[in-house]
Amino acid sequence: MKAAILTEPKKIEIQDVKRPAIKSGEVLVKIKACGICTLEQRLYTGDIKLFYPLIPGHEASGEIVEISEEGVLSDFKPGMRVALDLVNRCGECYYCRTGKSNQCINRFKKGQQVLGGFGEYIAVKSKQIFTIPDTLTYEEAAFSEPVACCVHSLKKIDLKLAEDLLIIGAGPMGQMHLQVALAMGARVFVSDPDADRRKQAVKSGAFMALNPEKDNIKEIIEENTEGRGADACVITSPSHKALQTGIDSVSKTGRINIYTSYLDAPVLPIDANTIHRSEKLITGSEGRTEYDFLTAVRLLSFGIINVKPLISMKVPITDIDYGFEKAMSRDTYRVILINNGN
Ligand SMILES: [Zn+2]
Ligand SMILES: [Zn+2]
Repeated sequence: MKAAILTEPKKIEIQDVKRPAIKSGEVLVKIKACGICTLEQRLYTGDIKLFYPLIPGHEASGEIVEISEEGVLSDFKPGMRVALDLVNRCGECYYCRTGKSNQCINRFKKGQQVLGGFGEYIAVKSKQIFTIPDTLTYEEAAFSEPVACCVHSLKKIDLKLAEDLLIIGAGPMGQMHLQVALAMGARVFVSDPDADRRKQAVKSGAFMALNPEKDNIKEIIEENTEGRGADACVITSPSHKALQTGIDSVSKTGRINIYTSYLDAPVLPIDANTIHRSEKLITGSEGRTEYDFLTAVRLLSFGIINVKPLISMKVPITDIDYGFEKAMSRDTYRVILINNGN
């Protein structure tokens, strides 16, 4: 089969590799679509290094082609359309057994499948596939993973009906957070310096889309919340100023989720006494559990959220370099790689 293989930073090439054989309990899936996420971009630039050669891609969807005769209990059939959850949760560790499988300690152990969405086929455990309806395109289904991470993120800060949420950064993750938060019944303020991204946020239903280069975010949110500030905030932009704005713009008892990851690991701009007195809660968000993934697939399948405006471009996997170039530019949300003949 063909696969896009990262052999060293900035060097990704289409190679012929052996099609994976399924083991007991596994399903072979022909990949139809896979998003180029920030993780892939950082793997590509070399800012994150795992190992080489590597097949990137963790936001994938496809069609079942083969099912192991042993160890698969559900009634999966060849031809079924699925979203792929490409994390190997062990189901045995403390975190898995306490419903926090996003923190599974064995998920990156040797022998575990890591990524693989930029290949033509992938063999996965049957618990990693989630069927999707015909009404959902493969490109849309490829959003299951990032949407699942937003579901996890908003559960993490316990977002409630009719609360005020501030989302900083209206790139792809900010836009997905917005849609999930609206589905959860929140009123959402969005902040982003990019006018097009603000426009898209308003179109999706943001209450206000603010420009951090011109607007005083904290003041405007206070004016709209009887002086309190937002009930919760999600930071999806890695700028240090965004971190400060997020912490300053929530109310007493406000919950802040540092969703973004940082290459330079800044120190929090808040002192311990302020946390003590204000009871602000600061947390982060890592990945998603299988429950979050299922929720995301249902949100997409039921049409509760609409990711079509976030599909900026579909690029054949053979044009992988072009795909990366476009994915890394600010004028795209998600670039989706598609397999030829799709
Ligand atoms: Zn992702
Ligand atoms: Zn585990």
